[in-house]
Parts: sequence; structure tokens; C-alpha cells
Amino acid sequence: MPREIKKVRIPTAELDPKIRARTFDEVNLGYTDEQAIEEAKRCIQCKNEPCVKGCPVEVPIREFIEFVAAGDIASAVMKNKEKNNLPGICGRVCPQESQCESVCTMSKLGDAINIGKLERFIADWEYKHGKEPSCGIRAPHCDEPKGKKVAVVGAGPAGLTCAGDLARMGYDVTIFEALHKPGGVLSYGIPPFRLPRNVINAEVEYVKSLGVEIKFDMVIGRILTIDELFGQEGFSAVFLGTGAGLPSFLKVPGVNSNGVFSANEYLTRINLMNAKTFPEYDTPIWRGKKVAVIGCGNVAMDSVRSAMRLGAERAMIIYRRSIDEMTARVEEYHHAHEEGVEFHWLTNPTEIVPDEKNFVKAIKLEKMELGEPDDSGRRRPVPIKGSEFEMEVDTVIVALGTSPNPLIPSTTSKLKISKWGTYDVTDKLMTSYPGVFAGGDAVTGAATVIEAMGAGKIAARAINEYIQG
Ligand code: FAD
Ligand code: SF4
Repeated sequence: MPREIKKVRIPTAELDPKIRARTFDEVNLGYTDEQAIEEAKRCIQCKNEPCVKGCPVEVPIREFIEFVAAGDIASAVMKNKEKNNLPGICGRVCPQESQCESVCTMSKLGDAINIGKLERFIADWEYKHGKEPSCGIRAPHCDEPKGKKVAVVGAGPAGLTCAGDLARMGYDVTIFEALHKPGGVLSYGIPPFRLPRNVINAEVEYVKSLGVEIKFDMVIGRILTIDELFGQEGFSAVFLGTGAGLPSFLKVPGVNSNGVFSANEYLTRINLMNAKTFPEYDTPIWRGKKVAVIGCGNVAMDSVRSAMRLGAERAMIIYRRSIDEMTARVEEYHHAHEEGVEFHWLTNPTEIVPDEKNFVKAIKLEKMELGEPDDSGRRRPVPIKGSEFEMEVDTVIVALGTSPNPLIPSTTSKLKISKWGTYDVTDKLMTSYPGVFAGGDAVTGAATVIEAMGAGKIAARAINEYIQG
């Protein structure tokens, strides 16, 4: 019998904005068992599954949701993991509204199915019940060992996905990670109020349980070159999932003042190096009272919300375009707004003003209006004459995008890169160096977790074809 159409999605609970704006606790509390089942029952089980086509890692969305609707969560977990090694991460940070949920049939009749929160629900259910002998979750199928070694450089979402898929195909996989922790941006960039560390740890442990080894503090290009991975280390193929971690800076006077940070440094100190708990951890952090964050993507939003949590009285986004052009997820914007973040739209920094000891004391700004569309298709911001003004601030955080680190290409002459520093690859993600594949932000420039994971999947298949001839 066809299901009754329920147009409105079941909401999830969230921490009170006034309380959460001062803690790093997770903002969204997810679904209870009953709520998840009710939301799953809204899915009308379309035969053509547009949602699956909207997902870069081809999660069997319709099927896992049907298991949730039937209350069989263990089967939902196993069905999802046929394709996705990192469901708790994707369920929390994927821009579902522009991926699977944007093409969900229900979005034409009312609210799209809350696919992201359902994916998060089944992942959280597994953390809670997965170790109980009676939980019903079976280990995934892995092929017989193939007796071949593959090196993956970088333990971000692209590397973890590629490594997990290759391990399941029977390869002996080692990830070489430059940092002392896995996760890439998930660990050093995205704060725990959006992505708790126990979720990252649990999903990395799952990838390791497939047979993947992770070696930390291994900067490839310095400690070992790509040639050495093939030669003395005996790997048959290499995947580069090295991301785009090199920050861009503002080109205005005063940018070298004390109190000006790249968002990368600011977030890395707080998240990876635990400066938020200083002096318990010995990484110091500048706790600004009047903080201006330049930019309006996810990175800017994470920075401004972190500044708030470190005690800022004014935490502000300065963005030269309007709200319609911001690249941050709508959910992040709403959360930041509820927490008291100020938004200065159509405003552009022209100078950072230091005091006599070279500490930031103000920022000079000008108002903008939108002109004709530029190369990105968005309307170009144009300064309004005579609109300059100054604002008192003690911290400026620059979140204007990143590019790939040039270390590996600079030590590997056979690797061709584009003018943006990204790897040139074929449609199967092979670089100009035979047997070396690349994917994720290292190829696309700063993008999304799920796109990086999708690239990891494509590369795993291509590496298998390459090695099997
Ligand atoms: P990364 O995650 O950057 O991982 C690369 C890894 O390679 C790192 O661990 C790095 O240490 C390692 N590495 C680099 N060079 C070497 C080397 N020479 N040797 C060994 N290891 C090396 N996307 C979303 O979808 N949703 C969001 O909400 C979202 N929020 C974001 C918030 C912030 C603050 C940032 C910075 C990004 C955000 N993104 C978000 C983007 C997303 O995180 C990235 O697109 C994604 O992590 C890219 O994955 P990756 O595996 O390609 O690279
Ligand atoms: Fe269910 Fe939406 Fe996918 Fe249709 S498109 S199967 S309603 S999640």
C-alpha cells in the first residue's frame, strides 16, 4: 500500500544557542530511535532513486532508509557501509541540501527526506550498540589478499575512502600522514561542535579494521619521496589525497600585525592542538574580544563561531558580497546567526591598523555594491566611493580559500600541476606519473568532504584496474 505523504520533516533537537555559543559541545543532537523511524517512513521509496544519483559515493539511500523505517537499524548500517566508510562524518558535514536531498522526490511535494540526519542516526546507533554481541551487525566482505601494496598519502576523507575501498579489494594498504592525527580537515579544521572527535575516531578505527595501516608524522616529499615509495618501499601504486592546506592571505597594509591569523592556523591550534583547553594543553591561543573574520564560507563560519566560544564579545563576518553569494552551508549560517555572530555584508577590508606595539587595533573597511557577474558567475562587488569607515577590532582571521601544498610536486619532477597548484589527472584520476593517482582537494582545490570521498572511490577502482593490468 502506498505510504501517506507527510510533507514536513521531523525536526532534530539542538542545544540552546545561548549555552552552546560558549562551549565546544555538539550543536545538533540528532534523532531519537522513534524520530528516525518516523522520518524514514516519510520516504516514498521511489523506484528511480534520484537521491542515489545525487550522492558522489553512491550510498544506497532508499534501501538503508527502508531498513530504518522497518526498525532494522543493524541492516541499515550494513547496507550504508557497502558504499560509505564514513557515515557519521558525512551525516554531519555533507552539504546534503545541494546533493542527495536537493534531488529527493519529496522536495517537490514538501520537505526533502532528512537523509543526512538519518545517516548520522544509523552511524551513532552503531557506536552505541555495535559492540553488543546481539546487535546483528556483521563485518563487511573483503576479497582474498592480492599480495600487492598500495601507498595512500594523506589521512583525510579522500585518503581514508581510497584506503578502505582498496583494503576491501584485498590490497595491503598503508596511509602516510604528515600530522600526528588522522582525519585531515575533519580533525584540524572542522570544530567539535559540528563534528565530535569520537565520531572521527570511530570511523578511522573502522577503516583500520579493514586492514589499513596508518603511519603518522610521515611527510611524503621529505621523509620519503614518491620514487622511494615505488623503489625501496615496494608499493605498486600511490594515491595522493594531500588536500589543499596552504592558506591565501589578504593583500592589504597591516596584514603582518600581531593578531592577524589565517583561518587554518587559528582552527588548527584550537582543534588539532587543543588550544581551547589551554593551559591544560600547552598550545596558546589569542582570545580576541572583537574579532573580524574575512570571508563567508564554511571555514569563515567555523572560525567566527570558534572565536565566540573562546569568549569574543563581538564576533563578526566581513564579506564583500551579499548573503546570496555566501558559500557557507545555510545550516551553519543559521546556527551562527542564532549564536549572536554579526554579519557585515557588502563590506571589504582595505587596511589593518596596528597600535605602536604592532598589535591589531582596528580594521579599515569600505562598502560595496554588486555589479556584473565575474568569472565565478557571481555578481562582482564594486567599491562605493566615499563609503570608507574604521571599526575597532583586536583580531582578524582571514578565511579566503586555500591551495595545495607544493612540497610533493617540487620533489617529484614527473608530476604535472596546473597553474593553481592542483594535480593534472586523467578521468581515472591518474597523474602524469604512471601509477600515481590523486583526488580530493589536491585535484579540485578546496571543495567538500563528499567530493573528496567520491574521488577516493574512483581512484580505488582505477588503482585496482591499473595493478591488475
Ligand atoms: P584533507 O582533508 O585536507 O586531508 C589531506 C591530508 O593530507 C591531511 O591530513 C594532510 O596533513 C595530509 N598531507 C598533506 N600533505 C602531505 C604530505 N606531503 N605527506 C603526508 N601527508 C600529507 N566540507 C564539507 O563537505 N562540509 C563542511 O562543512 C566543510 N567544512 C569545512 C570547514 C573547514 C574549516 C575547512 C578547512 C574545510 C571544510 N570543508 C567542508 C571542506 C572539506 O573538509 C575538504 O574538502 C575535505 O576535507 C578534503 O578532503 P581531502 O582528503 O582531499 O583533504
Ligand atoms: Fe526516498 Fe527521497 Fe530517495 Fe525518493 S528520492 S527514495 S523519497 S530519499
